[in-house]
Amino acid sequence: MAMPLSSATALDDTKHGRSQLALIPAANDYLPDSSKPLSQARYRLLTGLQTTLDLNRILELFHEESSELVAHCGLVYVNESQNLQITVGSVELHSCSYRLITQRDNLGELVLYHNTRFSDADLDSLETLLSTLLCPLRNALQYRAAIDASMTDPLTGAGNRLAMMTNLERELNLARRYHHELSVLVIDIDKFKKINDTEGHSAGDNVLQEMVRLINKVNRNTDLCYRYGGEEFVVVLSKTDKYGAMVIAERLREAVADLRICAESGPLQITVSVGASSYLDNDCTEDLLNRADKAMYKIKNQGGNGSAFTERNQRDDR
Ligand code: GH3
Ligand code: MG
Ligand code: MG
Repeated sequence: MAMPLSSATALDDTKHGRSQLALIPAANDYLPDSSKPLSQARYRLLTGLQTTLDLNRILELFHEESSELVAHCGLVYVNESQNLQITVGSVELHSCSYRLITQRDNLGELVLYHNTRFSDADLDSLETLLSTLLCPLRNALQYRAAIDASMTDPLTGAGNRLAMMTNLERELNLARRYHHELSVLVIDIDKFKKINDTEGHSAGDNVLQEMVRLINKVNRNTDLCYRYGGEEFVVVLSKTDKYGAMVIAERLREAVADLRICAESGPLQITVSVGASSYLDNDCTEDLLNRADKAMYKIKNQGGNGSAFTERNQRDDR
């Protein structure tokens, strides 16, 4: 099978005290040559890599197949533009690193680790195997970027509704199985339409972006923020009970009230209504969200700028 990819990797084996640019020639023939272990390993690797678009699996396969030929304990793959760092196996004292650069893309950096030095022959073999990795790696990165884009709200960078439902479903299953606490917040900006009407749509857009920035700043890294609708956000609070949820809801409400957002007419002050609910046995995602929504509307009906929780005994009072 032809692989129309010519590629270059920069090899920097610091423990060997060497740094060089290695050109990997385009491979034109992937049929295994039974007399050559390298050729066989390359063929096995290519066959395996063609079965998946999952980046982690691709790196695991590369680790498994390449370690048959070149002993190593683990690898770390870093791709800064996609904010990725993936470790397979263990990190040891000796390393060799490759910048995976093709004529078209920068695919990141791969560092392989071992407890003894890599020999020159090892490095030659690794470079040959790396040429097999590049194409599947690029496909997996593109696939991952497409999935990310389909799950992200383009205006604010928060997860979108699809991402929220997917993650909440997963969190709910974990809460059910491991008896974890789980809470959600529904956050709605008060009188947001008025901002659009008086300051313009782009000022409104800016408010939405600032809101997500603030929610992410106030929350723990594990608490993910999603744009649920126009000016409505959901925060999924894993391993958090009612009391924790109420503390976070109030902290968020206060932080928003203290925020001043630049607009043409001067600093804008906004407020939010926050509703909270916690997981009850046999809840589905809809139950959890409905109760938080109900608590949010209770505050809205009292004039906004507050937080509330819908209790267990209010569950069926919808
Ligand atoms: P309440 O206090 O009852 O929540 O009222 P509200 O004005 O916040 O809510 P309402 O549902 O009446 O209006 C929401 C507005 O949000 C209307 C819609 O045009 C605006 N909106 C929705 N999506 C966007 C967006 O992406 N950008 C901007 N600028 N506005 C948006
Ligand atoms: Mg609103
Ligand atoms: Mg709303």
